[in-house]
Amino acid sequence: MTGRRIIVANRLPYRVEGSGSAAVLRPSDGGLATGLRSIHEQGNSLWIGWPGAYSATREARAAIDAQLADARMIPVQLNAKEVKAYYEDLSNGALWPVFHSDLGQIPLEMKGWKEYEHANRKFAQAIIAHAEPGDAIWVHDYQLMLVPQMVREAMPNVRIGFFLHIPFPGPDVFRILPFREQILKSLLACDLVGFHVPAYLQNFVANVRNVLGEECFVDEIRTNNHTTRLGVFPLGIDAGHWQRLAAEPAVQSRVETLKQEARGFKLLMGIDRLDYTKGIPRRLLAIDRLLERYPEWRGKLRMIQVSVPSRESVESYGTFRRQVDELVGRINGRWSTEQWAPIHHIFRSIDEHEVAAFYRAADVMVVTPMRDGMNLVAKEFAGARIDGDGVLVISEFAGAASELGTALHVNPFDIDQTADRIHEALAMGEEERRSRMSGMRERVNAYTSTSWAFDFMRTLDEAPGTGAMKVASEHALCEITALVCGGRKRRPLHIVLDYDGTLVPLAESPEMAAPGDDLKELLCALSRRRDTLVDVVSGRPRRDLEAWFSDLPIGLHAEHGIWSRPRGELDWQSNAFTDLRWKEAVHRILGYFLATTTGSFVEDKSTSVAWHYRRNQDDFFGGTDFGEYKARELRRTLSDVLASVPAYVLPGHKVVEITAAGLSKGIVARSIATDPAPIIVAIGDDRTDEDIFGALPADAITIRVGGGATRARYRLDGPADVRALLARFVEIPVAAGK
Ligand code: UDP
Repeated sequence: MTGRRIIVANRLPYRVEGSGSAAVLRPSDGGLATGLRSIHEQGNSLWIGWPGAYSATREARAAIDAQLADARMIPVQLNAKEVKAYYEDLSNGALWPVFHSDLGQIPLEMKGWKEYEHANRKFAQAIIAHAEPGDAIWVHDYQLMLVPQMVREAMPNVRIGFFLHIPFPGPDVFRILPFREQILKSLLACDLVGFHVPAYLQNFVANVRNVLGEECFVDEIRTNNHTTRLGVFPLGIDAGHWQRLAAEPAVQSRVETLKQEARGFKLLMGIDRLDYTKGIPRRLLAIDRLLERYPEWRGKLRMIQVSVPSRESVESYGTFRRQVDELVGRINGRWSTEQWAPIHHIFRSIDEHEVAAFYRAADVMVVTPMRDGMNLVAKEFAGARIDGDGVLVISEFAGAASELGTALHVNPFDIDQTADRIHEALAMGEEERRSRMSGMRERVNAYTSTSWAFDFMRTLDEAPGTGAMKVASEHALCEITALVCGGRKRRPLHIVLDYDGTLVPLAESPEMAAPGDDLKELLCALSRRRDTLVDVVSGRPRRDLEAWFSDLPIGLHAEHGIWSRPRGELDWQSNAFTDLRWKEAVHRILGYFLATTTGSFVEDKSTSVAWHYRRNQDDFFGGTDFGEYKARELRRTLSDVLASVPAYVLPGHKVVEITAAGLSKGIVARSIATDPAPIIVAIGDDRTDEDIFGALPADAITIRVGGGATRARYRLDGPADVRALLARFVEIPVAAGK
């Protein structure tokens, strides 16, 4: 670990209670706060967040500020207008339903984006004011998704991690957001982005592909010079805390009271924030269905539903509360007798002792959200069951479900199935109950909120990011310059350069990657130096290289070295004479792929044919894009046709290129003089450049640009570093005369 840790979340882990002169600061708890505290308690950290709205006298405020400073907390103050627009309207009113794939809850107009940007800027500024190069910054959740890019622009040399505590929706839903691109681009400024479960990670990847058209791997996304690593980190609970709480005498006696009050009824329990994602109405309907289908439970069970008031200033939440109240009334009205009502609805917050008592008293815990990032209630229930008994019914759409494999899983949209499962839970024998519970307890004890926080931090430290690449790149730049500088006094310099991805970044379409004046000036300055030869070796056709570079004193090699135009000459020479009759058959096949893959196009070169599909935007199976799917089909089709002809398929980025066998960029090595032997510097970014590296003498300085396996001796980050290196070469003194 090098720098400090900076934790950034919308809320600080404190809240102010009371007001005026009685306003005091109290710590707030929960799995997240405990996990992050374990990082913060190590000492070398800061915590940035909003302390919540409060009113206090000047003295009380000063005391609160002093306490926060003592705890290394940096408050970001938000006024009422900002809170309303950024937090209530945009974050909770719009982002929350979209990220939970609840289209019905999306407001007619998504208000507050400007204020969201503004509030994110405030958080970013607080970070920038306190962070130093080498620090690791951990940003949390959907309220702060623009922070990473804002910080990155100001601080290239910090590590930035982001964790999303809610689900990430698939492209069909996420694309609803008018600000979809800004969100994704900002998250890609991170070194690490974490999710609770693999499905959210996959959805994120599918969106980056679909919305931004970036190429993605299972665990990382590379954009320009930056790598964003992706990871799955399921938030756990403070298992020791729930175990201790459950064993407290006060909690034990409350459990007894609850059981006595239940008078032998089976107790079913639901504890949730009153949020439309939690599935409370359908859960109540499932109880109704249970009583209908299984008359034996009439008068024999009690469902206690604790609904914690939440986000009451967001309009949709007020309407929702009335819906739940009405439903409880209707179901109780249908089944109640003078002595018995099936549903007991508690609409208030309860303290954790009471929560623990409810967990322990429950025969069946019913956790049936429509969609939930993780759901800690389910894990706390298992953590609190020190008696090893109790059954959990959990929605398959809760993040926690995949970890709690021995719970009874339900599809909460299927009311009949949920009713059947609850019946199964109520009727389950003790042995099965205990065996299922023991599986769940094992899991929640093994991966806690502290394991989660440390796991994320460790992965952030190890992520390649820009920071690490830059250091390696800087190191390579210095070493190569020193080598060339050393040899330059005695030997000429011969530089062999690939074009796309090496001198210029890869562009959306080939014609968009033309060189600017600065690049041409650089190549010109370099090739005008005494005893300096420059060759550009590209996969491009002759006309491109001629149009761009014919006025420069450099050698040009087109179509992977098939054509050469030596320095100072006007005519192209062919380096290969080969049988190209296979091209006709390949063109016929490509005609079909062209017609069935929108946006794809064919590029015909002298000794190869390339089918490009980078412009295809179609989605396929969420994770894979359609172009990729067709490319696989094309490779399969070609393998038969090419089996008996002198051609093969070249691997490439969003392109399938069929090329004549026996030809490669390596042919360029032949044109390099041997007497006197020059210092050779060869730079390239993909598989085809490896042929040059392989054909050069062992003492050549070979440089791979970007990631991927290579036989090159050095690695540089991207075209910007290549140009920086060439600029250094221009400055190296050359011995006067020979
Ligand atoms: N909880 C609470 N008071 C209550 C009811 C619940 O503090 O009256 C806690 C509960 O113990 C759990 C958290 O609130 O730690 C709810 O977390 P969960 O992940 O289940 O849902 P979220 O509210 O984050 O959507």
